[in-house]
Amino acid sequence: MVVDIEALKARHPILEVARDLGLEVNHNRFRCPRNERHSHGDRTPSVSLWPDKGAFKCWVCPDVKGDVIDLVRIVRNTDFTGAIAFLEKHSGYSPHPGPVKHHLPHTNSQSQVELFQASPSSVRTDGRPPQPTTTTAPPDRRLELIAAFLELCHPVRGSGKAVTWLKGRRIFKKTWDGQKLRVVENYGRISDELAAGFSSSDLRDSGLFNAEGHLRFYRHPLVLPYFDREGRAVYLQARALETDVKPKELSLAGAIPCPYNARILDGEPGLLYLCEGVVDCLTLIEAGFPSVGIPGAANLKPGWIPLFRNKSVYVVFDADAAGEAGTDRALALFADQDIEAHRIQLPAGKDIN
Ligand SMILES: [Zn+2]
Repeated sequence: MVVDIEALKARHPILEVARDLGLEVNHNRFRCPRNERHSHGDRTPSVSLWPDKGAFKCWVCPDVKGDVIDLVRIVRNTDFTGAIAFLEKHSGYSPHPGPVKHHLPHTNSQSQVELFQASPSSVRTDGRPPQPTTTTAPPDRRLELIAAFLELCHPVRGSGKAVTWLKGRRIFKKTWDGQKLRVVENYGRISDELAAGFSSSDLRDSGLFNAEGHLRFYRHPLVLPYFDREGRAVYLQARALETDVKPKELSLAGAIPCPYNARILDGEPGLLYLCEGVVDCLTLIEAGFPSVGIPGAANLKPGWIPLFRNKSVYVVFDADAAGEAGTDRALALFADQDIEAHRIQLPAGKDIN
């Protein structure tokens, strides 16, 4: 049997099919069919729908995207052939949606119900209680936005300015890949995709877009993501690569949720270096020293101290007055929570770079 895929798709506008599949579509957004992967069961819908393009995309799940056939395939847990069969069983839709209501075949309604009642990710199915966490999770929406932005950026590659800049600081491929550094290569496309997928207030509130509705990282193309202990990107900074650009770096709006490279704060015994700034941290990581960065010597938050449990911390702040004072304060904060910490003295006036 030969199926004319394009004709089949033309007879089945994606918005109508989505509604028939039981998806609640509002303002061209709906909850992810794989909502068990999302926090709070994707209470705030993560999937964008483009009725004109006949396409959809979840901003969190890389495999939840495509056309109307993919939508049926994913929602009904079937394969390509199964999705085609499902659409063919439907007689097709009137180009002008009328009062006719299409119904799902009853034989599969049970799996449909189960799919949409999938437990949220906070409920563990292995019987163990959820792991306590000291970090405060940013709201879902912000995480989705960060994930979407990073996905639209490119890895560091080739011989561009980012590579030259990083190599000039003795940071090489192993580290820029390991830390998932990204580059804003196609400013226009990234701006358009984000504007299509997110509300202007979400984009502005996050600090990705400015008040005029433009992506802020035009002259700051090197993107340095912060990952929390669960490996989620929770924050990012963008760095200028030309010396005449001020400020040198831009950040998202709001408080920094965790130190840079918090992934290594795993509660297992071990030593690590605590330094100022992401770039110093990258330099240390490249040199083989497990390191965590904070935004400045004075900016170690007391709430972060429990994250360093079981670690021997070597504080290696800049050798200036601010670095000295910051080190004194850090050592006191660690001592207060019985975490072993030491001072490392850099030559006067030097930093790690
Ligand atoms: Zn998803």
